[in-house]
Amino acid sequence: MINKEELFYDCIILGSGPAGFSASIYAARAGLKTAIIDINMFGGQPSNYLEIENYPGFSLINGFELMEKFEQHSDKFGVCKFPMVEINNINLSNPLKEIETSDKIFKSKTLIIATGAKPKKLNIKGENEFQSRGVSYCAICDGAFYKDKVVAVIGGGNSALEEALYLTKFAKKVYIIHRREGLRAEKLVCERASVNPKLEFILCAIPIEIKGTNKVEKLILNDLNTNTIKEIEVDGVFPYIGLSPNTDGFNAQLKQNQNGFIETDVNMQTSQEGVFAAGDVRNTPLRQVITAASDGAIAANSASKYIETHDSLFKSELKA
Ligand code: NAP
Repeated sequence: MINKEELFYDCIILGSGPAGFSASIYAARAGLKTAIIDINMFGGQPSNYLEIENYPGFSLINGFELMEKFEQHSDKFGVCKFPMVEINNINLSNPLKEIETSDKIFKSKTLIIATGAKPKKLNIKGENEFQSRGVSYCAICDGAFYKDKVVAVIGGGNSALEEALYLTKFAKKVYIIHRREGLRAEKLVCERASVNPKLEFILCAIPIEIKGTNKVEKLILNDLNTNTIKEIEVDGVFPYIGLSPNTDGFNAQLKQNQNGFIETDVNMQTSQEGVFAAGDVRNTPLRQVITAASDGAIAANSASKYIETHDSLFKSELKA
C-alpha cells in the first residue's frame, strides 16, 4: 500500500476560474493557508472566451488574458497551486475535508467549491458519434477548421450568439437554430447578430438528428410551427444550449437544485458545514465573470469566519 503524503490547509479551493482565483486572493489575504486545485489547466471557462467586454475596468479583454491576470494576482499572495490533479475521492463529512489523489491526501478546515459548469448536450442521434468530426462545443478551439464552410449553432443565449458571431470570421454561412421566437441573449449581442450578413436565424426549430458518413453533413430539424421535418446541409454543429454543473465527486454530499446546481445561502454556505460554493456551480441567477468573482470573495470571507468560530473542532481533529 502506498503511503500517501498528507497536506494540511486552512482553505482549499476546487476550481480555478474567476470564482476560484478570487476566493484564493481573499482567503490568502485573510491569512489562511490556501491551496487551489483543478483537474484541468488553470483558468476555467473564461479562458475559452475570445472577448469579454463586461468585466469592469476592461472594456475589451481576451478571456485567457483576463484569467492569466487573475492567476498572477493570486500568485502574489503565495497561494499553493495544483493544476491537472486527478482526484480519486472527496470526503466532506468530517471537520477536516479530504481530497484524495493517487499519491496525496489534501486535508482542509474549509473547502470552497468553484468547479464551474460545462456545456449541456443536445442528447440527439449523431451528437456523440460525430464529436470532433463536425460536432464541437468550442468555437474558439475549432472555428478555424470551418473556413468557407457552413455551420449551425444551436441556442438563443449569449454563448450561442457570441460564438456564432465568432464563427462568421471563418465560415461562409452560420445558421442559428433556436427553439422559440424570442432570443435569450443580451440586447446588444442580438443587435450585432441581426446585422451580420453571414448569419441566418432559424427560429422555432429544434435539432433532432445529426447525419453524415465520416463527418457531419446534415442537421435534421423539427419545425415547431408546422410540425414538419426539415434538413439543412452543414459541415459543423456547435451546440450552445446552456450549462450543467461540475459536481462529480460530491454529488451525493451536498444539497442541489433540480438541475444539479449547488444550493447555498447568501454567505455561499452549502448544506455541509465548512463547505462553501461559488460561481457557476451554484444555484445563482447570473453566470458572469463578475458574479463568480464576487461569489469567490464572499465564500473566502465566510470560510475565514468559520475557522475563527470552529477553532476547537480542528484542534481535536489535528491531535487525533
Ligand atoms: P443560456 O443563457 O442558458 O441559454 C441557453 C439557450 O439554449 C437558450 O436560448 C435555451 O432556449 C436554449 N436551449 C436550452 N436547452 C435546449 C435544448 N435542449 N434544445 C434547444 N435549445 C435549448 O446558456 P448560455 O448561453 O450558455 O449562457 C450561460 C450563462 O453564461 C448565462 O448566464 C449567460 O449570460 C452567461 N454568458 C455570458 C457571456 C458574456 O457576458 N460575455 C457569454 C456567454 C455566456 P430558451 O431561451 O428557450 O430557454
